[in-house]
Amino acid sequence: MSLEVEKVTKVFGQNTAVDNVSFAVDRPGFIGIIGRSGAGKSTFLRMINRLTDASMGAIRFEGRNVLELRGSAKRAWQSDCAMIFQQFNLVPRLDVVSNVLHGTLNRHSALTTFFNLYPSADIHRAIDILDRLGIAEQAPKRAEALSGGQQQRVAIARALMQDPRIILADEPIASLDPMNAQVVMDALRRIHEEDGRMVIANLHTLDTARRYCDRVIGMRDGRVVFDGTPDQLTTGA
Ligand code: ADP
Ligand code: ADP
Repeated sequence: MSLEVEKVTKVFGQNTAVDNVSFAVDRPGFIGIIGRSGAGKSTFLRMINRLTDASMGAIRFEGRNVLELRGSAKRAWQSDCAMIFQQFNLVPRLDVVSNVLHGTLNRHSALTTFFNLYPSADIHRAIDILDRLGIAEQAPKRAEALSGGQQQRVAIARALMQDPRIILADEPIASLDPMNAQVVMDALRRIHEEDGRMVIANLHTLDTARRYCDRVIGMRDGRVVFDGTPDQLTTGA
């Protein structure tokens, strides 16, 4: 699995949020992007997933520049690099299973969704994924009734429904207490190790990056200021 980021830049008006970022990954690693708030981490992840258009540069996955994809090819790519967010982005009043199946929306008609008539194979798969994440018993509850750690695992389950090769996690534990943070990071680590999916996670603490990542990219003011293994990380990245 190869991902090459080549001189990627994002300009908002006068502000260069991401400035000429380059790096290459040649296997499905667990990559942490660290840096203070405003360093450009979130903008960078959103460019990989095409939620934000880059101003310049290329991002090649398996040799193909994903920044040039349009229409259905772009949507397929967005399923292949599923994103999870700091605030989980679930539908609060909807039950857990429906939230997980939301990721399959583009495969179903509006009526299917409205009447909750998901194919039973999809429902079984959703339950299996929830079970793997240790939250199958929460399946019938509304998302809003769950703890933050459980909600983030629902968001991970929704991402896994798409069978993505990459999981992009934008500050996945920033809203969680330490115990829930550990549960969520452990889940991401397992998904990485057991399924061979690449994980790219924006993190704001060095400690988490050291514990979970095999590669760390440090950003400051939109630029890469560190790129190496956690062992090479000293303070101040
Ligand atoms: P981080 O994720 O590291 O906190 P961000 O990528 O959110 O950093 O932000 C990087 C910079 O880009 C910040 O200066 C931020 O204000 C700016 N920025 C992010 N999104 C937008 C936007 N949609 N419009 C204008 N500026 C933005
Ligand atoms: P983060 O948690 O990454 O720091 P923010 O709270 O900075 O995110 O940004 C939240 C949303 O606002 C994002 O969609 C981001 O793109 C947008 N945003 C951030 N900074 C600006 C800005 N200066 N102008 C316009 N939109 C912005």
